[in-house]
Amino acid sequence: MLRASRFTFPAHNQSEMAANLPPSPESIAYIVDDLRPQVTAFLQELVRSPSLPNREGPVQEIIAAKLRGLGLAVETLTTRFDALAGHPAFDDDGFSPDSRVNVVGRWKGSGAEGGQGSLLLNGHVDVVSPGDPSLWSDDPWSGSLRDGRIFGRGSCDMKAGLTAGIFAIEALHRLGYRPARDLLLSSVIGEESGGVGALTTIVAGVRADVVVVLEPTNGAICPVQAGALTFRLTVQGRAAHGAMKSEGVSAIAQFLPLFQAIEALDLQRHRDYTTAIYPNPANVAPISIGTIRGGEWHSTVPEAVVVEGRCGVFPGESPAQVRALLAATIAETASAHPWLAAHPPRLEWFEGQFESCATPLDHPLLTTLAAAHRQVHGTEPPVQGVPYGADLRLFVVHAAMPGVLYGPGDVRLAHAANESVGVEEVMDAMKTIAGMVVGWCGVHTD
Ligand SMILES: [Zn+2]
Repeated sequence: MLRASRFTFPAHNQSEMAANLPPSPESIAYIVDDLRPQVTAFLQELVRSPSLPNREGPVQEIIAAKLRGLGLAVETLTTRFDALAGHPAFDDDGFSPDSRVNVVGRWKGSGAEGGQGSLLLNGHVDVVSPGDPSLWSDDPWSGSLRDGRIFGRGSCDMKAGLTAGIFAIEALHRLGYRPARDLLLSSVIGEESGGVGALTTIVAGVRADVVVVLEPTNGAICPVQAGALTFRLTVQGRAAHGAMKSEGVSAIAQFLPLFQAIEALDLQRHRDYTTAIYPNPANVAPISIGTIRGGEWHSTVPEAVVVEGRCGVFPGESPAQVRALLAATIAETASAHPWLAAHPPRLEWFEGQFESCATPLDHPLLTTLAAAHRQVHGTEPPVQGVPYGADLRLFVVHAAMPGVLYGPGDVRLAHAANESVGVEEVMDAMKTIAGMVVGWCGVHTD
């Protein structure tokens, strides 16, 4: 395809710039489409940097350099566990605390300090392991482009979202736009393992009026997020030779009524929760058993069972309420079984303890974002709750920043082999994000 060798602004844009008018959706679309080769190459470059936990440094350097090149004031914030340890949302993810850097770029608004209308775009650079490489068609870090899609671990979750946010800024920059209020973009580490990167920025005082976390939502606006708590349940039995089964008490058999009670609790909680914005009302904040380890030997009656799982937190529910409810269910079930009544199961909460969060559906951020989406797609965006956790909760619950998840890509492709994202999805997200920035941050006046 022939491309113009030098970019020229459409005529209507020149008059917009002269009069400090907001860039029109048409001029945003024009510039975004012109940036397609750069957007594709940048996303490929990000994917080719295998930013597993503790190895996020190189990709953060790419992002910091890009933001500096756009004229943003760039700050790097090192995640230090000693600085986070006292925070209620701190969760030691077991990775080195001092070698992981977060990047915050600020496009200073021309308006007065402290006014309404600042915006934070946020994304994470850490990725989960690619798993078995033989399940991938290409190398998991190939960043290869095929049939309009970019492949590789992290392409969808969520280097596409970060790319869309960064290039939305570039598009606006090229249009001569200047925000009236601050526009921030933060690229953080450690989201997949609990959020120490986003928490670092919060503890450092990085704030805006609202936040858009650019996770893959397939173009849906997601203001509501369930939480999840990790638990361990230990059930005691009494060991005996398998040939003398009647002398022992199987901990596995004793666990079964508890398992049924937990499953029944999960069903009942979903029946009691009425929601209009979860696509699947039976899967909002599930309780799911992940591991069961029991017994020592095939011919020994098992002495103990250790079960680990995740317990969902519904939007509007506190972690303390959920912990109390699961504890009560276990205690009640145990009291009805003679052995369990005499040998009460032990319930512990460990590792991830993630709150749910919700931003009101009538918040002006949703209205502004929906208007920008409509300009690009011609249709209303779906407004949905999500059953999984992400950094959004940290901003909403611990930084008093209302926010939503919104970004390109399908979360069902995340964390899987042959993860990919469509370039067109990234382009559409860029147009929407740019339109939202203009609508939310406003246009500078001299
Ligand atoms: Zn993610």
